[in-house]
Amino acid sequence: MRYKSKDLFIDGLKFESLAKKFATPLYCYSLKKIKENIKNFKQHFKRINPIYCFSIKANSNTKLLNEIKKLGFGADVVSIGELMKALKSGFKSNKIVFSGVGKTAKEISFAIDKKILLINTESKGEILEIEKIAKNKKKLVNIGIRLNPNTDAKTLKQISTGKKENKFGVSEKIFLELIELVKRSKFLNLKCLSVHIGSQILDHRPYERMLNVIQKVINKSKFNFEYVDLGGGMGIDYEKNNKNLNLRKYATNIEKFLKKNNCKIIFEPGRSIIANAGHLVSEVIYIKEGEKKNFVIVDAAMNDLMRPALYNAYHRVIPAKKNNQKSQKPYEFVGPICESTDKFSTVKKFQKLKKKDLIVICDVGAYGMSLSSNYNLRLKPAEILINGSKVKIINKRQTLRDIV
Ligand SMILES: *Cc1c(COP(=O)(O)O)cnc(C)c1O
Repeated sequence: MRYKSKDLFIDGLKFESLAKKFATPLYCYSLKKIKENIKNFKQHFKRINPIYCFSIKANSNTKLLNEIKKLGFGADVVSIGELMKALKSGFKSNKIVFSGVGKTAKEISFAIDKKILLINTESKGEILEIEKIAKNKKKLVNIGIRLNPNTDAKTLKQISTGKKENKFGVSEKIFLELIELVKRSKFLNLKCLSVHIGSQILDHRPYERMLNVIQKVINKSKFNFEYVDLGGGMGIDYEKNNKNLNLRKYATNIEKFLKKNNCKIIFEPGRSIIANAGHLVSEVIYIKEGEKKNFVIVDAAMNDLMRPALYNAYHRVIPAKKNNQKSQKPYEFVGPICESTDKFSTVKKFQKLKKKDLIVICDVGAYGMSLSSNYNLRLKPAEILINGSKVKIINKRQTLRDIV
């Protein structure tokens, strides 16, 4: 994205023209950026040669998934819906892992029938359920067990998952007990130790501590894991202050780990692949004067993009057309939904905006559309994909007919 004179462009296309053609609110994705992100990832982890499984909950658009698949990725799913979507988007079953704390019998049964790479389990109850179903089907099922390494990911507490007070994974003690349980089963084949300590991680040291905990547990277990699934969580630079996760250091730590362990690494990145490849264009409906700030009421709302309301997450807001006037008061960008949390951000200094101006909410490719809803019976927005000079609608805007 960049400005050419006053206008903001994405891959050479003017946002203003896109908004005119496809209406707002509108999710715009850049295929070029997705490819760049994946290339960057692969470059850093070349020597590790991992299996990449894209975390479908970050973005489950069929067309985008198909593009990501074509770039050599498998998929990480957390529900039967996501598993079906992964298959429909072309992912091979032997490159799909199934994560999540509460898989139902129906979900487990479907996953076994589809012969996916791994079911990553998270409790004794779930392991016993998988065994029961596998026994009924007379099948040997490949599983992983998710370790809770009790490691602080140093990210927002709402998106931390690797501390002992979080519901995810099992403690070291239980992990070791579960290995023994699984070893005795004729229907379960333990192949993987998995972890995922959280999301939007920008410091490599939590990953380093996590690897140390994994090493300790592997040593104690004396078990030879064919796979170690390190999850995702790699953060991106939402604030544009050049604070990035040091992937090189993370890679070096994993390379050291692999010298002591003969296993295949699995990654489950979501955000780092797609977040900065998607942006949300929205039109100003009204400017409403307040006492200390003015409210910029836009046509996108928390139903289109929930992250600010859900996690107090930050997304940059920028104008689609620059001008030289300044706003007199701070601006608070809000949607029309009847909730006080329906706001995107508050900025002290912004250019003066008026009715019908366009703004762009940046880096919403991950956990944007996938978290959208019909709250207030609002329509879900359209999604378009920019591929060079071509633009394609990859998800039609809902119509009132669809939802009323
Ligand atoms: C959400 C999730 C991911 C992806 O996390 P990102 O921060 O988007 O990379 C990976 N693995 C599991 C188990 C998850 O729940």
